[in-house]
Amino acid sequence: MSYKHPFTRHKTREVMIGNRVIGGNNPILVQSMTTPDTHFVEEVIKQIHALEEAGCELVRVTVPKAEDAHALGEIRKKIGIPLICDIHFDYKMALQAMDHPIDKIRINPGNIGGYDRYRQVLRKAKNKGLPIRIGVNAGSLEKELVEKYGFPCPPAMVESALRYLDIAESEGVKNIIVSLKSSDVLTAVEAYRMFAKQADYPTHIGITEAGKPPYAVTKSACGLAPLLLDGIGDTIRISLLGDPVPEIQAAFDILQATQRRVRKPELIACPTCGRLEIDLEGIIAQVEKRLEGKSTPVKISILGCIVNGPGEAREADLGIAAGKGKGVIFKRGEIVRHVLESEMVDALLEEVAKWEIEEAQSGKLMVEKGLGSNEKKIALPVIR
Ligand code: SF4
Repeated sequence: MSYKHPFTRHKTREVMIGNRVIGGNNPILVQSMTTPDTHFVEEVIKQIHALEEAGCELVRVTVPKAEDAHALGEIRKKIGIPLICDIHFDYKMALQAMDHPIDKIRINPGNIGGYDRYRQVLRKAKNKGLPIRIGVNAGSLEKELVEKYGFPCPPAMVESALRYLDIAESEGVKNIIVSLKSSDVLTAVEAYRMFAKQADYPTHIGITEAGKPPYAVTKSACGLAPLLLDGIGDTIRISLLGDPVPEIQAAFDILQATQRRVRKPELIACPTCGRLEIDLEGIIAQVEKRLEGKSTPVKISILGCIVNGPGEAREADLGIAAGKGKGVIFKRGEIVRHVLESEMVDALLEEVAKWEIEEAQSGKLMVEKGLGSNEKKIALPVIR
């Protein structure tokens, strides 16, 4: 008997941002935001290059002043990923930003100064052919909704989002992404779940102001994993205090752990205990190093003794169950060879190489779509 994990991605419409596609069955994209003032062009470009190097796929810059809007063209010219402008409070900044070569605009309609100003932003976005993110935030909901519900709860956030979507639709604007952010995990999760039941707009998900790592990463994972496992979320950001570069690894790790985007080998290792009879930490360190940079979606289990080793190794694609100074290598549940501790790492890596060839030949690897010029670089596993 075989078992397949039930998983359905929430069906959303596709929205183009620059040369990337968000929503539908396209990969969940990783986004971040720069920290220097946007008019400090060199610093901003340097940070975006570091984010790109880490794998960032969409980048947002804040535009609170005219000098920031004037910097957008220069920044856009020197980066390789879509540029998103983040606007709060001043609708005129949104209008100004759209006169520059950007790929998307993000506004919080709750603090933009009323419906008329919101409509002006929508009209300009439509004329420019720009997608727009409607970023509802629990902290800046309309007063009347807070009064109606008593506090900024998920139904109030969803009602706010649907209200702004109605207005956008009445203006003929459809290229919209929605976010419903809160720094409270329960509020954010519930808001996104409620919204997904009522709309097919793609969502940008995140736990806002998560704070300082490592707690902020754990908190973000607690909020994002339930959503991702429900099939919700089309772009993702982990908001960390300070340098944004570590946000990227954290986001990809969450996508990997929830099997929404598996882009590297997954190592399963036991925590070790008094039963350990080999240098497990040393072996893991060597394997990790030699797998660096690989995008093969192979699950490798390396366990220190016979208690759980053979069982876990059978569940992984490849596995080692170690004994005293030696071990057994499993492949798809079958023992393929017995090895000495000293040969273990080489032998495992040989099996990884064979596994890659066999999986590619069997057609189980697919190319991630919607990634513009990066489209051909990454292999995806069929979700098992
Ligand atoms: Fe201990 Fe063995 Fe479990 Fe590792 S697999 S933690 S060595 S009992």
